[in-house]
Amino acid sequence: MNIIECAGLGRRYRRIWALRDCTLAIPAGHVVALVGPNGSGKTTLLELVVGLRVPSAGRLSVLGGVAPGSIPALSRVAFVAQDAPLYRQLSVADTLRLAAHLNHRWDHQWARRRVAELAIPPSAKLGALSSGKQAQIAVTVALARRPELLILDEPLARLDPLARHEFLAAVLEAVATDGISVVFSSHVLAELDRVADYLVVLSEGHVQVAGETDTLVAGHRMLVGPTDHVDLLPAELPIISAQRADQQTRLLARCGGDPRPAAEAGFRAEPVGVEELVLAYLRHPDATALPGPSGATESREVPA
Ligand code: ADP
Repeated sequence: MNIIECAGLGRRYRRIWALRDCTLAIPAGHVVALVGPNGSGKTTLLELVVGLRVPSAGRLSVLGGVAPGSIPALSRVAFVAQDAPLYRQLSVADTLRLAAHLNHRWDHQWARRRVAELAIPPSAKLGALSSGKQAQIAVTVALARRPELLILDEPLARLDPLARHEFLAAVLEAVATDGISVVFSSHVLAELDRVADYLVVLSEGHVQVAGETDTLVAGHRMLVGPTDHVDLLPAELPIISAQRADQQTRLLARCGGDPRPAAEAGFRAEPVGVEELVLAYLRHPDATALPGPSGATESREVPA
């Protein structure tokens, strides 16, 4: 089952396309990092997925063919919007009671136990809690609905490193115990690369990279070799980014595990990290790594 499936999906705000020609098929059971700079269309995509906005173009379904925002989708998808919106004047206990009334599926015992584990007094007003604790309450409310798909828009932005760690641990525990799928959006990859096993990179409203993190990492190498040998590399080798110096050039290439063509040109092939890979694509918005019939990427000129 694909938790999110879209083809040619687009959303326009007046004359500006916030999202264009977005085609994805994300299988269930993943922790997905949706990464891109501010303004790249992440919130727009997530709001389409939860049915808060309607597409201007293309098709979109969730949970194996369900229409976003429909009754079956609403009960199975939980969404935590940016800044963990909560009623600041309500107490923690009242927040849980309100959520219990608003949701058909609601695990009150689990929610209360979790608040106790977090050492948050039920009588505390939400507005008086730290942003880390507020985020924990928001995710507790989302998880107590027992969703199959949890969507979190920029959940880490306001949290300090310790709160980020605790927040991610809470989400990963839900993934491990209940097998839910999670989509995080973020404008920075730091920390998400530890937890995400599926990556979608958005740039200027289009999907630049999509796929399982391990497969993407295994499909790329950093080629390091003499600058005057660059022309000896196979012309069809997809080069994503280049750092040139007088003597040595480093090329991030989509070339899989076969080091021979690079070695023949005098280049050594080093493994790449997820963050390095994402940054290389973001620096070159024309480059793509998308699953296709052949899995091939267009060859291109070595970028300057
Ligand atoms: P991100 O979440 O990656 O920061 P957004 O989806 O919020 O990106 O925005 C993508 C683009 O759409 C930006 O150029 C933004 O200014 C524009 N945009 C988003 N929401 C609206 C809106 N309600 N009206 C007009 N333009 C919008």
